[in-house]
Amino acid sequence: MGWAAVPPSGVPAEAKLPAFEWYASWDTSEIHYRGPIQFPQNDTVNLSLVRMDCDYVNPAPGPTTSGFGRRWRRMHYGIDLDLETGDQVVAAFEGMVRFAAYNGSYGNLVIVRHPNGLETYYAHLSELKVQPGDYLQAGEVLGLGGNTGRSYGSHLHFEMRFLGLPFNPAHVIDFDSGKPRFECVDLYLKRGYLDCTNGEKFHVVHPGEDLYAIAHKYQVDVNQLADLNGLSPNDILPLDLAIRYH
Ligand SMILES: [Zn+2]
Repeated sequence: MGWAAVPPSGVPAEAKLPAFEWYASWDTSEIHYRGPIQFPQNDTVNLSLVRMDCDYVNPAPGPTTSGFGRRWRRMHYGIDLDLETGDQVVAAFEGMVRFAAYNGSYGNLVIVRHPNGLETYYAHLSELKVQPGDYLQAGEVLGLGGNTGRSYGSHLHFEMRFLGLPFNPAHVIDFDSGKPRFECVDLYLKRGYLDCTNGEKFHVVHPGEDLYAIAHKYQVDVNQLADLNGLSPNDILPLDLAIRYH
């Protein structure tokens, strides 16, 4: 794809930027988007994720070692995927690098803005391989995995945000199979961050819960629930894992 880092003179810069109509800004120094456009308070935004199989690639091999949600007293706004320092980290979808720099918490961080308005974050990298303005296809290397910033052990911290608001990547991506769960979802505002719906319903694992408890709560068969989530009925469930029950 040929989106130039610096548009030719005479062409308005925004004409070359992905999803500029959603953001109305392009800031390569600020991590999180803070306006001017706000997510609608009482409405959903339809986010189309993929049109073809090759439109999504897992950013790191994984498996998932930590899910989205409350972790002790802090919110964990992404998921953690296992890797070794030096492993290649790739763009999940095509898009333009908006941010590529070091930050005390995220360590070496790359943020890619995608044509559908989604932004993906790749944190704790040992090395940055891209710079703002670079246009990447899904699966293109953007850095090497590492343990920089507030991190204990090599892993990829991966976030998905829309207009700066995070949502649970596991709700839209099955990281085990490396495939999106849906072609598109509706995003909506929920307690300061986003959730999404596609008719499917999810339950977030609380302390002490197993699949039997969740099956009982929603009146579904435990084996069916296990199949739906690629689990066994007796698996120990990581806290904050999103279990699909419908
Ligand atoms: Zn993390």
